[in-house]
Amino acid sequence: MSRLVVISNRVAVPKARGASGAQGGLAGALNAALKTNDGIWFGWSGEEAEDPSAEPDVQTHDGVTTATIDLAPQDIEEYYNGYANSTLWPLFHYRIDLAEYSRETGKGYERVNELFAERAAGLIEPDDTVWVHDYHFIPLGERLRARGFENRIGFFLHIPWPPTRLFTSLPYHERLVRTVLHYDLIGFQCNEWLESFLHYCRKELGAEVDDTIGKVTFEGRTTYARSYPIGIDYDHFQSVGDSGEARQAQQRMMSSTRHRTAIIGVDRLDYSKGLPERIDGLARFFERFPEGNREVIYVQIAPPSREDVESYQQIRETLEAKTGRINGEYSEIDVVPIRYVNKGHSMAELYGCYRASKIGLVTPLRDGMNLVAKEYVAAQDPDDPGVLILSRFAGAAQQLSDALLINPYSNDEIAHAIRQALDMPLEERKARWEKLNACVRDENIGAWTDNFVRDLGAV
Ligand code: UDP
Repeated sequence: MSRLVVISNRVAVPKARGASGAQGGLAGALNAALKTNDGIWFGWSGEEAEDPSAEPDVQTHDGVTTATIDLAPQDIEEYYNGYANSTLWPLFHYRIDLAEYSRETGKGYERVNELFAERAAGLIEPDDTVWVHDYHFIPLGERLRARGFENRIGFFLHIPWPPTRLFTSLPYHERLVRTVLHYDLIGFQCNEWLESFLHYCRKELGAEVDDTIGKVTFEGRTTYARSYPIGIDYDHFQSVGDSGEARQAQQRMMSSTRHRTAIIGVDRLDYSKGLPERIDGLARFFERFPEGNREVIYVQIAPPSREDVESYQQIRETLEAKTGRINGEYSEIDVVPIRYVNKGHSMAELYGCYRASKIGLVTPLRDGMNLVAKEYVAAQDPDDPGVLILSRFAGAAQQLSDALLINPYSNDEIAHAIRQALDMPLEERKARWEKLNACVRDENIGAWTDNFVRDLGAV
């Protein structure tokens, strides 16, 4: 069997900053994938070094071999904080108002992609299947091809692909898309992002596109593009839910929210997650239902993220100001309706918090998938499940259509959905949850990996 070589920006190496800092869904997903496929996971250690070693640091832990390199301060600034997180991330989440364009960071991005190709070259054998992940490494496949690699090379984009009219606001957009067509297979989280990509290929590049099988032919090369919705490690998550840590977290939530319905939100502190808009939606609920502040408690877990990037400092200030203001307005001497927790929590603690909450409020303005929505479903008590309120703009909404789907920009829709969830009879909650849970259980991380790797071998 050919080995699998996974390349992603962060690698969850025990003790590395990348592991503790990698709170995104990617880390857990790839660890599960690598355990079943013999191979190597290569990427950035998360560490900065003035003069990084050319030799990757190779370690094997718990059945997974990792190879990592450190990056120089200028590389981190230009490639990671710059082009990846200040240009591509906002643009791909439809936030062209926040996207910054600079030649320096663009060059840094290309330089670091070349550096990763050079370092990866020593790790890849002729029979290996290579799987590159996410917006940090869009041109990496083309850089490997330029070095003569003819391996199967696939790419998965964990974030949305924006509509063509937004995408063309990126200087050198065509150059970027030309590189991505050097992969054999390109995976997207859902059909909407896939359709935007195919539209760009047809309209802007003039490529030949067969939508029925996702085949793109351009300048003599053929690439396949398809959607592969990522899932959670369902069985592992359930076993985590059986732990004392999970039960303790559930107990703490329940005893501190007595006589009120707990509503939970769990999001990295990122502007794509719609946090200020969500707080406005809660405020609308308190306004419309005068006893609302005594009826529910909203617990927002929002660990800090990408603090070196200015737009992240701003979103934190906005959220803190808004939470403080709404709490000031709707608190009473014995009631504080919003709890804002600016700290990361373990998977077990989150399980307990999800299970103790009768409503899960997941309202990103735009999200590639959103694994929190799936975790919330998986953590529910089958005999008395909670209600998921989900943004229609999350990739997950295409699978989880039995949630209460809302427009996250509308305060009224959020407020109304909270009311509807609170009043929903047990029968309906169960019927909706059973369908949601079947989807989360069956379309899990194992299925995602298997489908992508199988198709990469077959195209
Ligand atoms: N997460 C965590 N601890 C926290 C907050 C979040 O482990 O305190 C995890 C969460 O359980 C989920 C992931 O981070 O698995 C977030 O993934 P999602 O797809 O929802 O969003 P992303 O952060 O990747 O944009």
